[in-house]
Amino acid sequence: MTEELENEPNADSATQITFSDFQELIRNMYIDRDVERGVDGTFMWLMEEVGELAAALRHGTHGDKLGEFADVLAWLTTIANVVGVDLNDAVARKYGSGCPGCGHFVCSCSREEKP
Ligand SMILES: [Zn+2]
Repeated sequence: MTEELENEPNADSATQITFSDFQELIRNMYIDRDVERGVDGTFMWLMEEVGELAAALRHGTHGDKLGEFADVLAWLTTIANVVGVDLNDAVARKYGSGCPGCGHFVCSCSREEKP
């Protein structure tokens, strides 16, 4: 994604991308260097990006938030690629049938457990 798209709040609709598409995109772009770097180094990049997302949520523009959400997803996806996890499968297994706690599509778990 170009810098211009990352920072353009209204640059949305033209491209719809699924988890599977995104994971394949990240794999095709980076898999060799990601495998070479390994899980530990990649995890540190993810944590750095999570910190940048926190800053964007507090002080950033909408464009900053778009960019940081994309970066966090990209690094999370990278780790999934390195360890051979299919994100679509992971999400479908855990959340495809509703809330993992109560099984409903509108969660009815007690708020005392997870406010
Ligand atoms: Zn629930």
